[in-house]
Amino acid sequence: MTRKFFVQCLALTVAMGAFGVSGRAAVPAPLKIVTTTQDLAALAREVGGDRVTVTALASGRQDPHQVEAKPSFISQVSGADLLIVVGRELEIGWLPTLQTGSRNAKIQVGATGYLDASANVKILEIPSGQLTRAMGDVHPQGNPHYWLDPNNGRLMAQAIRAKLQQLVPAERAYFDQRYADFDKRLAAAEKRWDAMMAPFKGAKLVTYHRSWPNFMERWGLDVIGYVEPKPGIPPTPQHTIEVIDEMKRQGAKLIIVEPYFDLKTPQAIANQVGGKVMVLAPSVGGAKEVTDYTQLFEYDVNQLAAALKQVTGK
Ligand SMILES: [Zn+2]
Repeated sequence: MTRKFFVQCLALTVAMGAFGVSGRAAVPAPLKIVTTTQDLAALAREVGGDRVTVTALASGRQDPHQVEAKPSFISQVSGADLLIVVGRELEIGWLPTLQTGSRNAKIQVGATGYLDASANVKILEIPSGQLTRAMGDVHPQGNPHYWLDPNNGRLMAQAIRAKLQQLVPAERAYFDQRYADFDKRLAAAEKRWDAMMAPFKGAKLVTYHRSWPNFMERWGLDVIGYVEPKPGIPPTPQHTIEVIDEMKRQGAKLIIVEPYFDLKTPQAIANQVGGKVMVLAPSVGGAKEVTDYTQLFEYDVNQLAAALKQVTGK
């Protein structure tokens, strides 16, 4: 080996070390994001693209209030650079234990790697006055199912963008571009959904749980009752009779059920009022077609518009 060749080899080795064998600047490892729900995961993927890896803890087919923590959850949270939560006490029954158990300082409440996606969204049903146990599972910070309005999804994506730009400042422009692309696709879809739902403004329906206030407000639908007597409390015969009477009185025909509730009581109510039960997806992953945030509304709006057309004759 000549001395000149040796020096060239050495220079090449140093260059490869600095820039990676591909010849471009070394790519930093993607940011590890863990989210509590699949909705948050979908939004984090929209904004984060290939600069992040995203894992959701709860499945969209689970009741997000009551998620059974699997052993794998702890290791996922332990290794996270960023934890994104729905907040408003949605995960209060299962997340704090995971955060403590993970021993990961980065993702504790208030730390840089913790993001509560609810900070800037529109929150409904913020209770006034004293809360008591008798009111059921009422959340003092308002209804936590706020992701079911696409404009809230946009605001959540903005919060995720700001957090990613804080954690990975070198990718600021990339996250801006990813967000802008998502925003554009969402806006185009919203026009379509608004047009599909427009004929049904003021239509009356019943939902199992209070999962849909943001969704219903967005499209001007009127929820006249709930299968649950109180949030988180299973149906009782007395309350079921009241729901049947109210649906008959107001001419409501549709009962919307989340995929994780028993259909027996809703079906019994529907039989009494000559109505219809439909299972909608309250989250990404809540139906097999619903693989991202836009698909969530694509699916629900299509299903609901078809059912409303059937029961209202519009
Ligand atoms: Zn709830």
